[in-house]
Amino acid sequence: VVSTAAEEALRLTCAVLQHQLSRMDDATVAAAAALAASSDQRRRTGRYPLLDLAAVAEPVAAEMPRTVAALVPLALPEQLAVDGRELQTRGLQARRELVEAWLDDVGQVDRRAAFWIGAAAGPILESAAASIGTPDRSKWAGPSCPFCGGWPRVSVIAEESGEFMAGSPRFLVCGRCAGWWSFARATCPNCREDDPRKMAAHIAAGRRGVRLDVCDTCSTYIKTFDLRVEGSADVVPLVDDVASVALDLWADSRGWHRSSVSLAGA
Ligand SMILES: [Zn+2]
Ligand SMILES: [Zn+2]
Repeated sequence: VVSTAAEEALRLTCAVLQHQLSRMDDATVAAAAALAASSDQRRRTGRYPLLDLAAVAEPVAAEMPRTVAALVPLALPEQLAVDGRELQTRGLQARRELVEAWLDDVGQVDRRAAFWIGAAAGPILESAAASIGTPDRSKWAGPSCPFCGGWPRVSVIAEESGEFMAGSPRFLVCGRCAGWWSFARATCPNCREDDPRKMAAHIAAGRRGVRLDVCDTCSTYIKTFDLRVEGSADVVPLVDDVASVALDLWADSRGWHRSSVSLAGA
């Protein structure tokens, strides 16, 4: 059962990523991304999130029918396809309102609608986030994404920075725009617990380079990829997250839950 669920989730994620990649160079997508990233004033005045999300809603709503048309023929889970077709038939304004709710808080939208919005929004948000620099830690140290305000999906431990006594930096990775930002090593991104006795890292047998950082205080966990481990150089956090879904099933059996919705969580 585990491997079937994992294969299904991985197949879905790969189909979404392939579609998103094919949209990255599209002129409409590029123009929407440029508009979302154009707010110099937000950066100068330190207003977060840095992207202009009000400018994102309409182009994402306009992109959705194309996303549905591209993905539905790929034998998606049935209910996901049904909901996608239903979204396709809605008017632009109705879709736009749904996208606005999602941009405000992913949790306000049901998981299958969130899947479709996320798949359509990815190319615009990713291009926009990639075009502006990551704020350094003195400017942004919060658990939500400084680019789009989304929640982190996984975290990553990178090579040591080379700065004296700085240690290996940890980054959170956004599930919406794939942006990375620096975050304290031993702090729960969900409830900000920072007592080391309340935080435990669980490493699965036979899987080096990936672990679950579990918080006793709020019973959530975040999956962490350690890029310093040999063989981790080609880890793509949002893909390897899905490829290691067996770890999530194991965590679920222990009563721990993720604080964020997975791309393939439909
Ligand atoms: Zn983001
Ligand atoms: Zn916590």
